[in-house]
Amino acid sequence: LTLTRTGQPPGLYEMPLGQSLHALLEACNQPADDLHGALLGGYFAGLINTRILHTSIDYDSLIAIGTGLGCGAITLLGPQDCPVAAAAAVMAYFDRENAGQCGSCFNGTAAMSAVLGALRDHVAQLSDVERLAGWSVSLRSRGACATLDGATNIAASLLHEFPHVVTAHLEGECGVCRNAPPLPERPFAVDYQPTGPVVSEANSR
Ligand code: SF4
Ligand SMILES: [Zn+2]
Repeated sequence: LTLTRTGQPPGLYEMPLGQSLHALLEACNQPADDLHGALLGGYFAGLINTRILHTSIDYDSLIAIGTGLGCGAITLLGPQDCPVAAAAAVMAYFDRENAGQCGSCFNGTAAMSAVLGALRDHVAQLSDVERLAGWSVSLRSRGACATLDGATNIAASLLHEFPHVVTAHLEGECGVCRNAPPLPERPFAVDYQPTGPVVSEANSR
């Protein structure tokens, strides 16, 4: 597994399938009890609440609870990570980075990103969230590749796993966002530094 959490470098862990994430974190001396949940499968399998901590980490068990292991990259949502802000950041990535070939994808990710950005900023209305819920179903399988499915997973899982946080954002009362610093543009990047082209010492003379 690749585990990432805000404020710590990412780590690569080998573990047998069938253990819980809670057990793995305990074995690594990492706190688990302050987590809100996680983002699974890189950016593909969506968000999940604290159910993830005591679920067996294997392909079938994760599919059974509506998520997936995918590439094995798990981003932990700590006390300063709001699920709405995380979903907005990941959807902005899908909006920004899709290949722009399918109308359903570039229009759909832009629309879902606009709603999630507004929800994060406490300016969305219930009708916006209802449209997001509709798109999270109707846009599935509508792209030529699975990018759009990953984006719909983000929207659908936020609404399913964190309805109380969505409601808090509609009502302008999210305690996490009130106290947390803004997420970086590139979500959850710990050490990201934009770099220019690498020039070797020999070529630079
Ligand atoms: S669904 Fe895939 S192929 Fe179509 S625009 Fe999105 S990224 Fe490109
Ligand atoms: Zn929030």
